[in-house]
Amino acid sequence: MNYANPRIAAIAGQLKGRLDELENKTDILKATELKALYAEIPTLPPAERAGFGKEINALKQELEQLVAAHQEQAEAPDPVDVTAPFDVNTPAGKQPRLLTADQGSRHPLTTELEVVLDIFYRMGFTAIESRQLDDDYHMFETLNFPEGHPARDDYDTFMTVETDTKGRQFIAPAHTSTMQNRVLAQFRPNLEQGKPIAVLLPGRVFRNEDLDARHEHTFHQFEGVYVDRGIHAGNLLATFKTFLSEYYRQDIEIKSQPFYFPFTEPSFELALSCPFCQKQGCHICSHTGWIELLGMGMIHPNVLKAAGIDPNEFTGFAWGCGLERLVMMKYGIEDIRHFESGKLDFLKQFSK
Ligand SMILES: [Zn+2]
Repeated sequence: MNYANPRIAAIAGQLKGRLDELENKTDILKATELKALYAEIPTLPPAERAGFGKEINALKQELEQLVAAHQEQAEAPDPVDVTAPFDVNTPAGKQPRLLTADQGSRHPLTTELEVVLDIFYRMGFTAIESRQLDDDYHMFETLNFPEGHPARDDYDTFMTVETDTKGRQFIAPAHTSTMQNRVLAQFRPNLEQGKPIAVLLPGRVFRNEDLDARHEHTFHQFEGVYVDRGIHAGNLLATFKTFLSEYYRQDIEIKSQPFYFPFTEPSFELALSCPFCQKQGCHICSHTGWIELLGMGMIHPNVLKAAGIDPNEFTGFAWGCGLERLVMMKYGIEDIRHFESGKLDFLKQFSK
């Protein structure tokens, strides 16, 4: 601000300089120089009083604004570089704080995944979380999709700019099956000891989808992998029927129809009897009484071989089930996008 009166301009300069040094910034508004200027008004010739008074008021206003700006700055938290790695040596008082638990509630998918896990734990499965970034080898090659296989196009997902040593981009997995090779190899010694491989693989998966009430670019699956001697498709269907009946707490019927996946042979698509209307027909099941839920099948011999398991000796099954689909049916949720929306009115319905 420019002051026409040279004395007011000089005092304005002094006071602004002093403001920087003051601990309590509001003290500047009580400065003796400012009071002296106000006291001077009545001593001036009447013609000068109005102009002089106006400039002092302007100075006072400028000082008030500067004080307010200082206060705002002092109260604002320090800016955080969210991309910086966390320094473990940060003193306790300066470490980021988590919100206390009483300010939030568990996400419905977390709660429901625990219900799913509990059922499979009781059936003797162990659980390993899938990766959120994987490579071409685990996404395709180990799952019997050789380079150039047309079925690769069915999995339109996201890739990184960075590449691996062979120049291939990393992949945001389109399914939890990326973990099959790892767990088959990891638990192969079980088979030699006469025990089955029984692993559940929950995780977050990604697809380049056109979004609507049934399609989301980010969702969750839980993969089941079971291998032992003499395992057949009847074991697969019985296991999944048992799970569904436990999860929906009612006797669920299932029916399967042939499908195609490169990593299972034979492959099926499984439908379950609608848990809402007991096959009478309702809007959830599009009045058919049945709901298509997931793909599954007997693990392809090439997938077993890729993990060092002899397919002539051992057989097994695998499925990849969408968690959101399952939960949507349990609670009659009409839009899959609610889960990732962060909408409090949706989440509060599941907080206990
Ligand atoms: Zn129904």
